Amino acid sequence: SKVPPIILNNGVEMPQLGFGVWQVPDDEAEQAVATALQAGYRSIDTAAIYGNEEGTGKAVAASGVPREDIFVTTKLWNRDQGYDTTLRAFDVSLGKLGLDYVDLYLIHWPVPGRDRYVDTYKAFEKLLADGRVRAIGVSNFLPEHLERLIGETSVVPAVNQIELHPHLQQHASRAFHAERGIATEAWSPLGQGQGLLEVPAIVAIGRKHGRSPAQVVLRWHLQTGNVVIPKSVTPSRIRENIEVFDFSLDDEDLAAISALNEDRRIGGHPATVE
Ligand code: NAD
Repeated sequence: SKVPPIILNNGVEMPQLGFGVWQVPDDEAEQAVATALQAGYRSIDTAAIYGNEEGTGKAVAASGVPREDIFVTTKLWNRDQGYDTTLRAFDVSLGKLGLDYVDLYLIHWPVPGRDRYVDTYKAFEKLLADGRVRAIGVSNFLPEHLERLIGETSVVPAVNQIELHPHLQQHASRAFHAERGIATEAWSPLGQGQGLLEVPAIVAIGRKHGRSPAQVVLRWHLQTGNVVIPKSVTPSRIRENIEVFDFSLDDEDLAAISALNEDRRIGGHPATVE
């Protein structure tokens, strides 16, 4: 495969780069995921709340790529937190995807105000024990939420998927994850394509290597050790975003990008999103 794997804390391999489908309508998801699979992606990141598990599943089924060669992630939405509701929501997701297992199941947000993420995760542990998911993890958890979860359950999360890009480098979370053997997965790795791809330092590094700003940012993530899931519905960009395994940033490039941290979020804060 084009994309080298990382090894999760339970031994399962996960491609370090995958394809994200947030904000892709269900009827466009099938085409976008098909294009990504043709381009060599072997990991797809969806969620119940994205409303495109059906389109994603159709593309997987029609691709001709063996199921075991594709890593499918989906996420439990906030209102379904709780032990029994989680088991039911998982069945709904699996049915929409048309699969008999998913590779990674994530709690989408901690929602600490409702205080149900521990029970939710206990249902995740059952799904793991029953072989219906190959790995379980969380998304948008702060170190304090992870600390509590690890204290009250048995399986250390394999992954925490968090907002992470050069303007929000998440040093504290990354260090905490490394200590506990949790993989850091970056959402909005391109900063949603907003101002980040026009930052002069990033544009200049791209010129130096004959690469696009998006490729430079993705390369920074890979060399930093993050899992990345860039999103695009434009075929040329879908292909461009995976063509990042045939060049490297040097120490000077990495330092210039690391200097861009502003601890600035685009998305919601984990303490308040409900
Ligand atoms: P992203 O950082 O991947 O940026 C996507 C946007 O960047 C595109 O819509 C496009 O405008 C632009 N872009 C993409 N490739 C480009 C290229 N080569 N050149 C120029 N512009 C380009 O943003 P995202 O979609 O927010 O995040 C990626 C994925 O992360 C999502 O699709 C989803 O799977 C996941 N995500 C998860 C959460 C969560 O709470 N867990 C939240 C947001 C996103």
